[in-house]
Amino acid sequence: MRTHCPYCALQCAMTLDEDGDAYRAAGDATFDVNAGELCVKGWTAAETLRHPQRLLSPLVREGGRLREASWNEALDRAAEGLRRVRERYGAAAVGVFGSGALTNEKAYALGKFARLAVGTPNFDYNGRFCMSSAAAAQVRAFGLDRGLPFPLEWIARTACLLVVGDNLFETMPPLRRYLDAQAQEGRRIVVDPRRTELARTANVHLQPAPGTDVAVANALLHVLVAEERIDRRYIGERTRGFEAVQRAVEREHPERAERRSGVPAEEIRRAARMLAEAPSSIILTGRGPEQHANGTDGASAYINLALALGLPGREHCGYGTLTGQGNGQGGREHGQKSDQLPGYRKIDDAAARAHVAQVWGVAPESLPGRGLTAYELLSAVGEQIHALVVMASNPVVSAPHASDIRRRLAGVEHLVVCDFFLSETAELAQVVLPSLQWAEETGTMTNLEGRVLLRERCVEPPPGPRSDLAILRSLCQRLGAPDVLAGDDPEEIFEELRRASAGGLADYGGITYQRLRDGERLCWPCPDPAHPGTPVLFRERFATPDGRAGFSVVEHRRLVEPPNREFPWYLTTGRIREQYLSGTQTRRVAPLRRAAPEPFVEMHPLLAAAHGVSDGEAVRLVSPRGSVVLRAKLDEGIRRDTLFVPFHWGGAQAINTLTSDALDPVSRMPAFKVCAVRMERVPTNG
Ligand code: SF4
Repeated sequence: MRTHCPYCALQCAMTLDEDGDAYRAAGDATFDVNAGELCVKGWTAAETLRHPQRLLSPLVREGGRLREASWNEALDRAAEGLRRVRERYGAAAVGVFGSGALTNEKAYALGKFARLAVGTPNFDYNGRFCMSSAAAAQVRAFGLDRGLPFPLEWIARTACLLVVGDNLFETMPPLRRYLDAQAQEGRRIVVDPRRTELARTANVHLQPAPGTDVAVANALLHVLVAEERIDRRYIGERTRGFEAVQRAVEREHPERAERRSGVPAEEIRRAARMLAEAPSSIILTGRGPEQHANGTDGASAYINLALALGLPGREHCGYGTLTGQGNGQGGREHGQKSDQLPGYRKIDDAAARAHVAQVWGVAPESLPGRGLTAYELLSAVGEQIHALVVMASNPVVSAPHASDIRRRLAGVEHLVVCDFFLSETAELAQVVLPSLQWAEETGTMTNLEGRVLLRERCVEPPPGPRSDLAILRSLCQRLGAPDVLAGDDPEEIFEELRRASAGGLADYGGITYQRLRDGERLCWPCPDPAHPGTPVLFRERFATPDGRAGFSVVEHRRLVEPPNREFPWYLTTGRIREQYLSGTQTRRVAPLRRAAPEPFVEMHPLLAAAHGVSDGEAVRLVSPRGSVVLRAKLDEGIRRDTLFVPFHWGGAQAINTLTSDALDPVSRMPAFKVCAVRMERVPTNG
């Protein structure tokens, strides 16, 4: 039985075999992306299918507690609460919060549910927390965003690889074969405040202070311009706006960047020359430069660098972003962002509205307009938002300033959660609707290359849970909008999605289940059934009106919350190999729990010594928003002014209790990657 991993955007192919009452996963060697490799999360993914904590029955809140209920009772309660709030406060008082884990069909159906059955503009998803800054920067420069506008195997073939703010050996371990192949003859530059496993393989490792990525990238470009190592022909023929950027980076010399970021000026020069001298280069950004109050500018600064070197559209070259969630890419293509409609159409574009409205059989003016983005939506709960539907997401753990979000969700008039485990968010709900898992239903996912994958049902689900599509259909019926989802067959919904996306930037018009079943490798745009798909974008032109890519003037900005006397250290957060995002699934998988039972705070031994802290000792981290107690993990590879904590845990261990809710003005991405904290020893008893 063949399927794809439920977790990250690599979407490794795997097989599942029955093993007594359980299933055993193995890598599928016939799928080129992972060629039989899986990371530890993939190997153990099947443990969730028959997990004893799996939700098998709907739950409703009564007398302050959740109790089991029939599907009819739970769906009636869910819909009745939505209707009540809508009648009392208007449709915009209902929020709908989706997920980058949903299939394309579910993402599409959830958008129809929100916009037609509920009628709210306030629909967004947790992908806003993941790659929205890079998406905004790509749209600004290239006219569209796709994680990688080139195939993954180009990583193996490029002469110089620059990775900014991502530890690929931990986040996407099966990429090791590409990275190892690249290292054989190529050069590597890594930009990261930590000396990660990837950074240890780099020829140059730049270690900037969190939040100073723009300063470093501008200094790299300064060196390239000053030494005339840019591709003037490409700039002249394929871009616009370079003169303004050239003027802006004139004063961004490496010594200035050194003062701001702590990266030695000579190392910046070395990295710039290494990039310029390579016959081919790829620049990849991860969440490091993106999850900031200027995260769009962080990604734009590296896109400027790629354009000045003439990389996008050239063989074995380019700029890409490392999308995290399994379907973070497809999730936004089909309208899960409050400003987008299916096919990457803009919700405030009259022609886009007319096209989607015609497919949906409604008048364009009946479609809601632009609504609140993810964090704005969550932080409006209890004020502007009085009912919330959450599907496959756990914002109580994954949102910044998490204690405030928890308080709001605990007090909201009506909260409906669809999930297969009782997540920290589901624990607060009035109604919990248990859903199927990845291997138990069919649907398409779009990986970080923009490649559409058909994940077919290969496991019989236990009695009780229902597919999200069936749940949405039942809610539509109870909200008096039965025509919004006439069926819950994934292939039928995909057929409608094809029509809705046709002519848009993310055009799926030519992709069919049959072509995918036949093994065709189809990347969007794929406008008609004879089209081979588009694995490489931008070869001839960009998706902008004039076909040129746009440079953006971006400047280093002072942090919203710089370290100060009371909170003297930078806190940055990220992922570890054994856990995944909010941990709803992976914290329940025994081998992963054993390997990574709790979060830690990584710090330099000198910083630890200054606080009298030893390895393994408990310390309290305090930010202006709260405090968390964690075990110290000493590591000489991290900057002496920076603390790193993984964010996969909830409750008292949720590091997002401390993180900043400052938002990027363009992408509305929260500044997860930097805030100011102090550290206190926790006295031991006795
Ligand atoms: Fe799953 Fe990602 Fe690990 Fe592959 S790398 S097995 S897709 S979590």
